[in-house]
Amino acid sequence: MLYPGVRCRKGAIHLWRVLFMALPVAGCALLAACSRSGPEINDAGYEVNTAYVATGQDSRVRFIVLHYTSENNEDSLRILTKNRVSSHYLLTDGQEPVLYRLVDENRRAWHAGSSQWYGYKNLNAMSVGIEIVNKGPLNPEKTLWESYSSRQIDILAALLKDLAQRHRIHPRNIVGHSDIAPQRKIDPGPLFPWEALARQGIGRWYNKNRVRQHEAMFRSTGLPDIFWFQEKLRHIGYEVAFGANNEEQTRKVLQAFQMHYRPQRYDGEPDIQTAAILMDLAGQP
Ligand SMILES: [Zn+2]
Repeated sequence: MLYPGVRCRKGAIHLWRVLFMALPVAGCALLAACSRSGPEINDAGYEVNTAYVATGQDSRVRFIVLHYTSENNEDSLRILTKNRVSSHYLLTDGQEPVLYRLVDENRRAWHAGSSQWYGYKNLNAMSVGIEIVNKGPLNPEKTLWESYSSRQIDILAALLKDLAQRHRIHPRNIVGHSDIAPQRKIDPGPLFPWEALARQGIGRWYNKNRVRQHEAMFRSTGLPDIFWFQEKLRHIGYEVAFGANNEEQTRKVLQAFQMHYRPQRYDGEPDIQTAAILMDLAGQP
C-alpha cells in the first residue's frame, strides 16, 4: 500500500516525513496539496522518484482470448476464483449479465494453457482472457449449441473495443481459445458472433467480394492440396505441422478456422469456400 498522497517535491519530502510520523491526520491533509511528481515512499521503506515517465514503452498485452465456460453463472464464478484456472474477465448470462474483473489486466491469468498464435507460445503471459457464461455444445454430437445473448454481446463489444484501443491490439490478435489451441479446444464455438463483431470493427474478417473471386478461380483450377492449406493456415497465425502425415491434425486446425470464419459448416474438410477465405486473409497486411 502507498501512503495516500505522499508524492512531493524533493525539498519537501523530509518535512512531510516528520509530519507524517508525528501527526498522521494533519500530515495527510497537508499532503493533498503536494505535487504529484517526486519521491514516493512505499511501505517497504524506500523512496521511488516518479517524476519522469519514459516514452519507450508499450503494453505487455498482445492478444485477447475468448472462451465459454460450459458452466452456469455460480459455478463459473466459483471455478474461476477458487481453482488454478482463472481469467481477467467473466461475463455472466441472464437478464442482466454482469462483467466481473477477476484478475488485473497487468497480471497473468491462467486461461489459455498450452497455446500458440503467430509463433508466440503460451499466451497467458501476453493476453487478456475473457470467459463468457455459455454451455457450448448441447448434445454429444456437437451439432446443437447455446447462443450468446445480445445483452452479452453488447457488453462484450464495448469491452473488446476498449481493450483493443488501450493495449493497441491488432485485429488478428483477437482470437478464440480454439484458434490458439485447435488440437484440444473448441470454445468459443461456432455460434460466437465473430462476423457481427467484425462489422463493429472488432477482430479480423475477410472481404466478401475478393472471396467470391477466389472461389471462381478455385472452381476453374481445382482445390489446392493439403500442403497449400497447411501453409496458408500457418501464414494467418495457426499452429499447424507440415506434411501429408499430419492430415488429422490439419483437419482440427481447419475445423477451428471454419468455426471462426465459416461457421455454417465446420467439418474440417478442405473445400472451395474455405480455401477462398484463407487466401483472402493470407493476403491481408
Ligand atoms: Zn477456453
